[in-house]
Amino acid sequence: MNTAYETVVQKQQRGDWKSMSQQERLDAICSFVTHLQSFAPISNRPCLGLAVVDSGVIDPQTGTSLQATTLDHWSNVPIVATLEKQLGLPVMLVNGSQACLRVIDRLELQSAIDDLLYIQYTEGIGCSIKSGGHYIAGYSSMAGEFGHCKVTDNDMPCRCGEIGCLEAVAALPALVREVKISMTQGCASTLGKQTHFDGHDVLKAASEGDRLACRVVHKAFSHLASAVGGLINILAPTVVLFDHCVGVAGEDLVSALLLETQRHALPSHSPHLDVRVSQIETEIISCGGAVALLDTCLEY
Ligand SMILES: [Zn+2]
Repeated sequence: MNTAYETVVQKQQRGDWKSMSQQERLDAICSFVTHLQSFAPISNRPCLGLAVVDSGVIDPQTGTSLQATTLDHWSNVPIVATLEKQLGLPVMLVNGSQACLRVIDRLELQSAIDDLLYIQYTEGIGCSIKSGGHYIAGYSSMAGEFGHCKVTDNDMPCRCGEIGCLEAVAALPALVREVKISMTQGCASTLGKQTHFDGHDVLKAASEGDRLACRVVHKAFSHLASAVGGLINILAPTVVLFDHCVGVAGEDLVSALLLETQRHALPSHSPHLDVRVSQIETEIISCGGAVALLDTCLEY
């Protein structure tokens, strides 16, 4: 991304990160950044720095990845010091939630909204908060883990160790699990023709009218709407943006999600409330890292 906040080059590298050692992952990151730089027209423009976005627990002050949420063998990694030494670039460590907030605020809302909620909806569920014009990060940038609010008394286990968390009953993996359980009980679904399907496939099947997928997504979105409604009543935002991903479920289910969310807001909060789906489609986290870095370099 250049200093006009325009994407200059975009590349993605997939790999079997879970099977790599810590050092192999660091080496792979350095190799990829070097590869990326070869595509960027920066011969006469210096690279201001590199943003590393980590969706786990971080210490931004020391530049350390404290704990991963999805990877083993990744704790207390001095990632900023290591990459700065190997790449010769200034490196900034950013939390995933904060990265999302930066890109939504600057590139979608042009920094015009002081009280904003962004709802991440992927393998997990979280929120990013801007309140009174300030980004809310909390201790070690851990604010926004509202996917672990308990929303049901059923005993669905969550990866955090609790049961009945929003994430356990409404995030993408929960959609897959619910569809598979219903199919084993005899429910028909177009997804039964696929040897493998993920949460996005369930959302897409719902948008195409698959009755089982529609039922599962509607139930998940109902939990999501209830939880977001609670957040609205606590934080009084004027804009709530849902992850673009929910839009894959199609107009009917999305409209129901937005209406139900509005319905959970107190009458005092709803007149000034705009609830919609984000227009930013892809690579929101990496773009957010770049925006955070530029904001810091340019002292916005
Ligand atoms: Zn949980």
